Amino acid sequence: MKTKTSVFALVVLLSIIPINVAADEGQHIRIVTSFSILEDLVTELGGSRADIINLVGRNSDAHIYQPKPSDAVAIADADLVIMNGLGFEGWITRLMENNGYSNKRLIASQGVKTLISDNEVDPHAWQSFRNIKIYIDNITQALIEIAPQYNHEFVRRNEVLTRKVKLLEQDLSQKIGAIPESQRVVVTSHDAFSYLGREFNIQFIAPVGFNTDSEPTASDVAKLIDQIKSQGIKALFVENISDHRLLKQIASETAVTIGGNLYSDALSEDKGPAATYLDMMRYNIESISATLTATTKTKAHNYRS
Ligand SMILES: [Zn+2]
Repeated sequence: MKTKTSVFALVVLLSIIPINVAADEGQHIRIVTSFSILEDLVTELGGSRADIINLVGRNSDAHIYQPKPSDAVAIADADLVIMNGLGFEGWITRLMENNGYSNKRLIASQGVKTLISDNEVDPHAWQSFRNIKIYIDNITQALIEIAPQYNHEFVRRNEVLTRKVKLLEQDLSQKIGAIPESQRVVVTSHDAFSYLGREFNIQFIAPVGFNTDSEPTASDVAKLIDQIKSQGIKALFVENISDHRLLKQIASETAVTIGGNLYSDALSEDKGPAATYLDMMRYNIESISATLTATTKTKAHNYRS
């Protein structure tokens, strides 16, 4: 009788142990990210430990996003919600409050040196290598707080990504460094690149401000057209998240060719040129650099002839 009980206990025990081990190995942190750039960073930093649901997809505009019922469900189930902050995606704060979300939340931009214009904070802080290192550290810290048992893995992933950021920054600084500062003027659809401009001494001008929900007046557009003509600006770019009609109109009225597409507030599709944060930064800066180099050469040629 005694033996039977022991065997039964052992069978029960054996049937329980593998399940517990499997559950521990497969433990995932359920994370909601507000937009595609954060999704990419968290994928890099969390690896297989992060189970991510991202709300605003690739090539989509987070400024004017309308949450779906499934977003509220994702937030209700999350261990961690990560957002940009700085007024970029106010809808996610409302979504958390309306659904009584009480688990951990992280404002990825906390601690960055913000840019302020007309008493408004520029939310596009990710367009800066200096800032993105702060985002990366903030995300790593939040992951460690939730799952300290994976501390070493998160620290290693942080080091790998930080090193890649640093190398890319050096490479792109050299490329931009070859262009005279006086030539570094770029027109884009909305005011999303001031942080990049501060870091690389590029002047960005846009007909639309920080938020894409406003429309420029006819007189604003006319002023911009005059400025492009009088300064001889030759670098005009559309953005992946914006309507291209206004920039096309400006291009046609100034006879400046559109230099291509810049990725401002969202990554490209997986197979596109800005599929990751690092790809986005490389693609944007190399596109700007190529256009400015070409126009600088044209100007020098015109001067000589
Ligand atoms: Zn924006």
